[in-house]
Amino acid sequence: MSLRDVGFYLRGCLNSGLTWVLNRGGAAAEAPVPLEQVLAGDGSPLALAGLLAGRSNEAREAAVPWYLERRGVPFARRPFRSFEGAGENFVVEVGEGDRVLVLIAHHDAVPGSPGANDNAAAVAVLLALLDRLARRGPRGVRVRLLFTAAEERGYLGARAYVRQERLDDVVGALSLELCGIGDALAVWDAPEVPPRFLQAVAGSLDALGLRRDEGYHVVGRVPVFGSDHRAFAAAGVPAYGLTVVPLREAEALRRFVFNPVRSVFRTLVRRPPPFETYHTPRDAVGTLEAAALERVGRALDAIVAGVGR
Ligand SMILES: [Zn+2]
Repeated sequence: MSLRDVGFYLRGCLNSGLTWVLNRGGAAAEAPVPLEQVLAGDGSPLALAGLLAGRSNEAREAAVPWYLERRGVPFARRPFRSFEGAGENFVVEVGEGDRVLVLIAHHDAVPGSPGANDNAAAVAVLLALLDRLARRGPRGVRVRLLFTAAEERGYLGARAYVRQERLDDVVGALSLELCGIGDALAVWDAPEVPPRFLQAVAGSLDALGLRRDEGYHVVGRVPVFGSDHRAFAAAGVPAYGLTVVPLREAEALRRFVFNPVRSVFRTLVRRPPPFETYHTPRDAVGTLEAAALERVGRALDAIVAGVGR
């Protein structure tokens, strides 16, 4: 176990402990949608968000393979266990070739939160993408969808995955977080000098007709917040977060996420959306915006095509 792992671990403990305390006695959770109803739904990301939202972490971890099995999608199970905890990652791979694009969405949530925007929405976006990729496979790149466990515990699932697998064919990774509220995309934890993968991602969003600093933002290293891509970045893979935010809140968000002191006391100050509901009992499916989910889906289609070129 490296020093970096210790850091991730402590951060995870703090994160779960704090939210558990803050969410005690929170609003009664909305009842989760029955799984069969999700399966029989229209397959939109908004409908698919019901697969995980409002369920316990145990039920969320069971719902992902249940859905893949019922849809006849081949997938691999990647269980892990360490003194930090145990869980199961799930991997679906589509396409051929020796270059791999990894798209990540964690399936767990913090205790006391329905975990709709964090992160049932992102899992739903990837499942909807999977449908499109199954109809028309990606060209020039293999797409690996990785559904991780225990992100909220210091990226535990992603760190276990990175330890288990060879990554030398991975050209880049994106971790989807908070993909359900807003109208502007943010690629974050980006370095000053963009490596080829990041150039391909930005170029794909340009090609989609999105304007930089308006339709999409490329944001530097974000203090305090993080996501599974950091486990990949620590292993030397170009890896970033992908989130959607309300453009009208861009300035407030910038102040919020780039001021670590303010962010540490983030439960005490006014939190701009999407952080209003983040890690709270109010993170319910009813707050998700269909247009936001569709926007992330279109961006991923463009990125898959762009990285494959
Ligand atoms: Zn999350």
